[in-house]
Amino acid sequence: MPAPLKPISFFLQDRTKDEGFTQSELSLMDECAKKWNLRYNNLLTRAGEFAWPHYIGGAWHKFQELWRVTKGEYDLDKAIFPIIPKGIDRSGDFDKWIEYWNAVMPAYQREYAKMYPEEAKHEWEVIEEEIDTEFLGYRLRGKIDLASAKPKFIRDFKTTVSAWLISPNGWHFKLQFMFYCWLMAKTKKNWHKTQFQFQQDIMQKPGLKQTMADVTWAGHIRRVVGDVKERPEFYLTRGSALITPEAIARFEHEVLTPKIQRIALAYDNPNEAVSILSNPNTNACNAFGNQCEFFEICEKGFDAGKFLFMHRDTKHSELGEAAA
Ligand code: SF4
Repeated sequence: MPAPLKPISFFLQDRTKDEGFTQSELSLMDECAKKWNLRYNNLLTRAGEFAWPHYIGGAWHKFQELWRVTKGEYDLDKAIFPIIPKGIDRSGDFDKWIEYWNAVMPAYQREYAKMYPEEAKHEWEVIEEEIDTEFLGYRLRGKIDLASAKPKFIRDFKTTVSAWLISPNGWHFKLQFMFYCWLMAKTKKNWHKTQFQFQQDIMQKPGLKQTMADVTWAGHIRRVVGDVKERPEFYLTRGSALITPEAIARFEHEVLTPKIQRIALAYDNPNEAVSILSNPNTNACNAFGNQCEFFEICEKGFDAGKFLFMHRDTKHSELGEAAA
């Protein structure tokens, strides 16, 4: 049973500032400032829910890291998944899906290694490195998945169910990607001087459904594994965009600076914080058919929804430690 929730604060907590800001929370602040306040400033998370995208994406990132660190000696037939947290709801088909991903993830790993064999031996400048820097008095953090000095590019690994929706149009201006480019240019030698590529390496999750022909769940898993093997170019794709020093300077000035100034305004003027950092955008409550995780709290009030939530220990569980 999770501990009772503390009342929601509408002031920017010292801890929120100390643990630093990431691109995903800056993006969320634009999507709905109230959602940002609940998730990152009050550290609320839904109790007992299992984050499948984190589980699958975590294993994919771990493969990408270890396959390169070991220069291709990584066991492609085994996948390393994040630890399943205690207390999550394992009812329904939970264990069937664990079995599924234990078989399907290695299929992706094998095909990726076959597609890009030279990458296992490449001399990478960065493999899964957390960058932590300061800008306008605020701590900014992010993890660079991969970077190469020659040829010069940084790469982001993405797992998705809808790869066909991803197009490189506008990547040289998009907060999510430019934040990583900016971190590299700001902290790594020579990365601010010349242009480089931003690549997104996309792992399309299977969309095949179980049919009568599969007979059993094991049969369905075999069919999915077979399809990944037969059509790797459908499941594993790449896009890229050119990033110039001018694009990075413009990003810093036009995109990043106003966002940090908005945070600073709320931090320095607590009486204004509610309107700056907790402003609800109710157009985002059901965006793209997905209901926001805090809908019960927003629609019916804190007392009606609070039993569904618990507090996280840290702001950025995806980044190693908490506050520095
Ligand atoms: S339910 Fe709507 S208003 Fe409330 S936090 Fe989510 S997106 Fe914002």
